[in-house]
Amino acid sequence: MARIVLLGAGHCHIEVARRAGELTRAGHELLLVSPEREHPYSGMGPGMLGGTYSLQQILLPAAELVERGGGRFIAAAALSHNPQTRTLQLSTAHELNYDVLSVNTGSELGSCRGTAADTSGAAAPAERPVYAVKPIRQLAAARSAIEQRCRARGNCRVAVVGGGAAGVELAGNAAQLLRRCGVIDPAVDLYSTTAALAGLEGSRLRYVRRRLERAGVTVHAGGKVDPSQLRADVTLLATGIRPVATLAGFGLRCAADGALRVDRHLRAEGTARVFAVGDSAWFNEQPLDRVGVYAVRMQGILMHNLALSAAVADGNAEARQLERFEATGVYLGGLNLGFGRGILFRGRWTIRGRPAFTLKDAIDRRFMHKFQQSSKYF
Ligand SMILES: Cc1cc2nc3c(=O)[nH]c(=O)nc-3n(C[C@H](O)[C@H](O)[C@H](O)COP(=O)(O)OP(=O)(O)OC[C@H]3O[C@@H](n4cnc5c(N)ncnc54)[C@H](O)[C@@H]3O)c2cc1C
Repeated sequence: MARIVLLGAGHCHIEVARRAGELTRAGHELLLVSPEREHPYSGMGPGMLGGTYSLQQILLPAAELVERGGGRFIAAAALSHNPQTRTLQLSTAHELNYDVLSVNTGSELGSCRGTAADTSGAAAPAERPVYAVKPIRQLAAARSAIEQRCRARGNCRVAVVGGGAAGVELAGNAAQLLRRCGVIDPAVDLYSTTAALAGLEGSRLRYVRRRLERAGVTVHAGGKVDPSQLRADVTLLATGIRPVATLAGFGLRCAADGALRVDRHLRAEGTARVFAVGDSAWFNEQPLDRVGVYAVRMQGILMHNLALSAAVADGNAEARQLERFEATGVYLGGLNLGFGRGILFRGRWTIRGRPAFTLKDAIDRRFMHKFQQSSKYF
């Protein structure tokens, strides 16, 4: 009986957790190791900040799904990994052995050094807190802080640092939250090193700028800013994400950005039975954007390859039948700009405004429903 360990409750592992019964019925032991029983879905994180969704609505019930399928959940983070002994060192001070390992630990905010800001809200003065965009749960704390200030003083000045897709979504949704809190003239400052917000250009960029301006967001494009020097009551940091730094201590080959290098089967380079997916993986065949879309596309391949590798570990199959991941086609990009507006684009095709938000919302809700429908909590 092979032991399969899933590290992190990211977008790929949530699907493996949903199908846990297929692995346990085949006689394998399945363990999911992650700090929290529920994983907040990033695609709906900005909407949760803006008050469109509750935190509960965006939680993926990872532990419950794996337990329902006969697997086990361990509330811990991995601190390091020894590929020779196939062992993980956990934050609970336990060691965990595996026959097959899959790493889906996602990303964290890159360092804000040079801007003198820490990435944790706890380190900032309590009266002017700073929240990082990851982990997504920080956005729930940011929302409470904004609501609290609006209740106490009737207003709250919000700064968002980072003009990528996440920063743009946060700025629009922070303005929406302020309006919901009764602020007539919301004041949100968005700081970006580049004028090309979210990497957009042409009419798409013009539309996003126009929507932000109407929402009360002032865009400051130019050099880097020091978040600790901003005149804001609440600051949100979205200065770019990178694979979790823990991976550097895994004894495996990493790419320059710190992700684990994987082959076409999503197998960590130089290993037989370690897989890495989502933002944890650097796909050797072709660089991939750090978007959840790719993690979702990897789900089926990972499930097949885990089942096969467990059978190989038991001596019942051959690794030759591993499936290949093909990063084919352009993906649908989208932004929730707050106030029920958005923009969706794919190749040369674009939709904007209310229809774009309605479609993004429907896609996100359908994704959540797939995992929440069998949960007793949702
Ligand atoms: C605000 C925001 C909005 C976004 N919107 C979109 C969008 O609309 N569409 C899109 O495609 N992409 C979007 N992205 C990008 C997307 O979030 C990431 O690409 C995606 O989350 C990567 O998924 P993942 O499965 O690799 O990891 P994640 O979803 O980040 O999951 C990682 C998991 O690993 C756990 N973990 C971390 N460290 C450890 C450890 N040491 N040990 C054990 N467990 C650990 C975490 O707790 C978590 O459960 C957005 C990002 C942000 C910040």
